[in-house]
Amino acid sequence: MNQYHYIDDQGNISDPLPLAALQKIGLPPATKVLLEGSKQWTTLEQASQGGAVVFPVAPAAVPPASPPPTPPTPATATIKLNCQSCNTEKSMIPTKVGKFGGVVKFIGWLIVIPSVLGVVICIISAFMVAGQPGDSQADQVGKGGAEVLFFFFAGVSLVGGLIGWILISKKKVFKCSVCGSIKDRD
Ligand SMILES: [Zn+2]
Repeated sequence: MNQYHYIDDQGNISDPLPLAALQKIGLPPATKVLLEGSKQWTTLEQASQGGAVVFPVAPAAVPPASPPPTPPTPATATIKLNCQSCNTEKSMIPTKVGKFGGVVKFIGWLIVIPSVLGVVICIISAFMVAGQPGDSQADQVGKGGAEVLFFFFAGVSLVGGLIGWILISKKKVFKCSVCGSIKDRD
C-alpha cells in the first residue's frame, strides 16, 4: 500500500502515512504530499484521485556560484635537484648563501657602513663648502681644494664600500635540505 509524506503548517515533512490516514487527519485537499520512495510532489487531492503527479520536485537550492578554487600558483616552478651527497631525491632547493664566512662578512659590514656614511658626508660637505660665502681668490682656491679633497675621500669610500659589498654579497646556490650540501647555481 502506498504511503505518503505530507508537509505540515510549519513546512516539516511528516513520516510516511497511508493515504487513508492522511485523509482522516483532515488535511486540506491542496496539501502537498510525497509518495514514499518517489521524488515528485502531488497534492492530497490528486493522490486521492489516483496519484497523478502535478509537482516536479523543487530543484535543490543551487548555492551561488562560488569562484572556482584558484589553483595554487607554483612558486615560480621551484626547481629541485637530487642531492648527490646524501642521495636524496629533490632535496636541493634554490637559495642564497653568503659568498664568505661569518668573520669576513662581519668585516664587510664594518667596511660598508662607514664607506656609505663617508660618501654621503663627503658629498654633503662638498656642497656646503661650495655654498660658503667668499669671493676672494684665496677663498676660491681654498674652496676648490676642499672640494677636491672631499671628492677624493668620497671616491675612496666608494671603492671601500664596493670591496665591503663583495664581502657581504650572496651567491645563488642549491642547498640540500637534508644534509646541507651546497651546489652553485650560476
Ligand atoms: Zn643532501
